[in-house]
Amino acid sequence: MSSPRLRIAVQKSGRLADKSLEFIEAAGLRIVKGANELLYRIENAPIDLLRVRDDDIPTFVGDGVADFGIVGRNVLEERVEGEKPIEVMALGFGRCDLRIAAPKDFMYDGPQSLAGERIATSYPNILRRFLKKNDVKAEIVTMRGAVEVAPRLKLARAICDLVSTGATLETNGLAATETILESEAVLIQCRGPLSPDLRPLADSIIARMRGVSASRGAKYVMMNAPRVRLPEITEILPGAGAPTVTPLAGRDDAVAVHAVCQESVFWETLEKLKSAGASAILVLPIEKMM
Ligand code: ATP
Ligand code: ZN
Repeated sequence: MSSPRLRIAVQKSGRLADKSLEFIEAAGLRIVKGANELLYRIENAPIDLLRVRDDDIPTFVGDGVADFGIVGRNVLEERVEGEKPIEVMALGFGRCDLRIAAPKDFMYDGPQSLAGERIATSYPNILRRFLKKNDVKAEIVTMRGAVEVAPRLKLARAICDLVSTGATLETNGLAATETILESEAVLIQCRGPLSPDLRPLADSIIARMRGVSASRGAKYVMMNAPRVRLPEITEILPGAGAPTVTPLAGRDDAVAVHAVCQESVFWETLEKLKSAGASAILVLPIEKMM
């Protein structure tokens, strides 16, 4: 009997397709893009990538057809039938928000403004939960696509749709109001137990993916700094824990400071560090982190 292989469901084509493959490669898995359109094999681990429509990913993972999946949180949260997969971690790409939008003359003043209105969306389940939570009674018009044209066609007064830049809304004379879900690509996992043979592999993949996700936003920052101004400098470093502080040869008053910053390091940050007496400031990308 052939040994078991871990299955990860990914979007076959679309906004998340390439980025999902890139993410998997960044975790050290070498993808063999073979003749089989549905399945890509991983060369250096017993893993197969199942390439499907994104809407099918939560179902496949929920049913255990795939062990893991990479899908937008919006798609995961919209699913209501069957076993809901677990969201293991956010992956930091495919960011977009599910937002309520309405024509610019619509006076939006909180969810209550939607009472009695018709709202068009491709996400009726998420919208229904939002309305219920806010105790608002409104009519939901489910559309498969082109939701943004609904107000112009008088199909609905407002819409609830994915927004990343807002350009589509703008073109259609709409303005976004409430955000009802912040979405990005997430790793999802089947709720059922994994075959014991695959458990160590799955754990190692999750750990590596956490590393990729953490290292992508992070930067390694190095500088020299006056010893007395260390507390101030530590305060300025964005999302850093305790920095590493080492002596500088032949200098008693200054130290070298090294820190991993989890958040973006902007020019403004460097200017602040400089004002606090830091010099020779270097910001380096981090390739891997564990
Ligand atoms: P499929 O053919 O797999 O069903 P699709 O057309 O449903 O694909 P895409 O348009 O490729 O889906 O979007 C996939 C995911 O990308 C969305 O579910 C969402 O999580 C994310 N995404 C990021 N930015 C946007 C955006 N501006 N509009 C829509 N989706 C976005
Ligand atoms: Zn889809």
